[in-house]
Amino acid sequence: MTDVLTPVLTDNWGDDRSWTLDSYAARGGYAALDKAFAMAPDDVITEVKESGLRGRGGAGFPTGMKWGFIPQDAATEAGRKPKYLVVNADESEPGTCKDIPLMMASPHTLVEGVIISSYAIRANQAFIYIRGEVLHVIRRVQRAVQEAYLAGHLGKNIHGSGFDLDVVVHAGAGAYICGEETALLEGLEGRRGQPRLRPPFPAVAGLYASPTVINNVESIASVPSIIEHGHGWFSSMGTEKSKGFGIFSLSGHVQQPGQYEAPLGITLRTLIDLAGGIREGHELKFWTPGGSSTPLLTAEHLDMPLDFEGVGAAGSMLGTRALQIFDDTTCVVRATLRWTEFYKHESCGKCTPCREGTWWLVQTLTALEKGQGSEADLDLLLDQCDNILGRSFCALADGAVSPIMSSIKYFRDEYVAHLTEGGCPFDPARSTAWA
Ligand code: NAD
Repeated sequence: MTDVLTPVLTDNWGDDRSWTLDSYAARGGYAALDKAFAMAPDDVITEVKESGLRGRGGAGFPTGMKWGFIPQDAATEAGRKPKYLVVNADESEPGTCKDIPLMMASPHTLVEGVIISSYAIRANQAFIYIRGEVLHVIRRVQRAVQEAYLAGHLGKNIHGSGFDLDVVVHAGAGAYICGEETALLEGLEGRRGQPRLRPPFPAVAGLYASPTVINNVESIASVPSIIEHGHGWFSSMGTEKSKGFGIFSLSGHVQQPGQYEAPLGITLRTLIDLAGGIREGHELKFWTPGGSSTPLLTAEHLDMPLDFEGVGAAGSMLGTRALQIFDDTTCVVRATLRWTEFYKHESCGKCTPCREGTWWLVQTLTALEKGQGSEADLDLLLDQCDNILGRSFCALADGAVSPIMSSIKYFRDEYVAHLTEGGCPFDPARSTAWA
């Protein structure tokens, strides 16, 4: 069964002190860097383009194409500006737990990816922006960066290539919105973390108004293996438009929650089998393909390919491959209310539909969960969602309405049961959603 897995990024996680430079180097770490230095920067970009790698932060934007947007023509003002690489390590999407374990187990994979990616876009300064709550991760990545400097993988004239790179590890301050790339840039520049209007996209005007590539941890960590093995190796895995492999994080009601690295296009059925199945005596009720910002799906989607196209066709999004699994003991209304409270708490307050709308969503959902009100309140809730979706400044509020709209689509009867029974029909003692 495990032969369907494609351990690349996770391959060394079980090694003794896998996070150290010695351990990483013993497996050939930093060899891809020399291979990249033997190539012209544009050829590195071409290699990543041809691999088909798409952003692993959730949106799936083609990584090589994003790099190709960075203006390089010295005859233009934009081309002469300094370029920056920023790694988005603000992993905070509920259920998403891939970048943090990756940075803990193998920070040098990320550091090597940062150097190769910076070389490709001709950036001499890179930042790794890590979620503020995870101090242990920040320390581990800082240590890896120090080790890389001492070994000559960072700093001036790296490996005699003539390429210079400095890397700063920056700690966020615990705001979910700072995972949104422009809010992240605001935070990095020392301002309150709130999103900027796009366009211009960061590739044109990003950090300090200079061309900036912002990529997710897993995207950047995938680069050394693409350079080492070639684009054909990477694109031979996955599906037609969703190439390569990715880390799927399974949490919730499975026997063995954890990270499973597999080709894109694998099904949830296979992943649940790998995770030892659903809790004994129970059945799958609903799940998120990419964290709570992606519409819920049900057991009818067990055999759907987990790639950008397959999940999109089912009315959801692949997102961060954060597969939160809920069995038949879970009250979907309670779970949805819990997520909505999260979005209300994390709304940055910049735009009205999100700031006010998420507050109203919580009020309406709380009443419904307590069995108060009438069926008309369900339509009111959907109307509130409709007034938020596509009308807010960034994707946060769109994410907030996803679990609500999809849970009503699939489980309207359960909402109605709360009203007819005057409260939650689930026994709190049995339902883990009450925790
Ligand atoms: P997006 O599709 O707007 O952009 C994706 C990336 O492509 C960005 O880096 C953007 O700058 C770039 N891009 C898009 N169009 C471009 C253009 N025309 N020119 C240049 N660059 C362009 O998505 P988004 O709003 O940045 O992110 C939404 C995603 O974030 C969701 O899919 C969600 O899954 C994910 N997300 C992840 C987490 C997490 O913890 N990892 C948390 C919340 C949301």
